[in-house]
Amino acid sequence: MDCIFCAIKNGEIPSKKVYEDESVYAFRDINPQAPTHILVIPKEHIPSADAVTEKNADAVAKIFCAIPKIAAAEGLKNGYRLISNVGKDGCQSVPHLHFHILGGIQLPEKMS
Ligand code: 5GP
Ligand code: ZN
Repeated sequence: MDCIFCAIKNGEIPSKKVYEDESVYAFRDINPQAPTHILVIPKEHIPSADAVTEKNADAVAKIFCAIPKIAAAEGLKNGYRLISNVGKDGCQSVPHLHFHILGGIQLPEKMS
């Protein structure tokens, strides 16, 4: 399968890793949209949040356990925004589930 984020998590494409455990990989976005912009992905290939099921929910839960650790390590004491774009209308450009952590600045109130 040709998936850019699977290639990143496998080390076939270089990335600036910020966190890794047995089921989660996190790295800096190549085109940051905030002072801190990190992508958190499951190592398991899940196409999007729309493909989450009881069967793969553990991998998703592990992501949510990793996010507070990543945020603390990044010093995001005042909070951050978590985004997961889904499909065409959501402007998802990489079809491997990922959560954007955006922070390090007061983000705009408007989300769309
Ligand atoms: P999406 O648009 O699917 O929600 O987010 C995909 C994100 O992946 C974008 O913010 C984009 O900048 C980032 N991205 C795409 N290709 C690469 C890459 O090769 N390396 C890194 N670090 N980020 C990437
Ligand atoms: Zn993938």
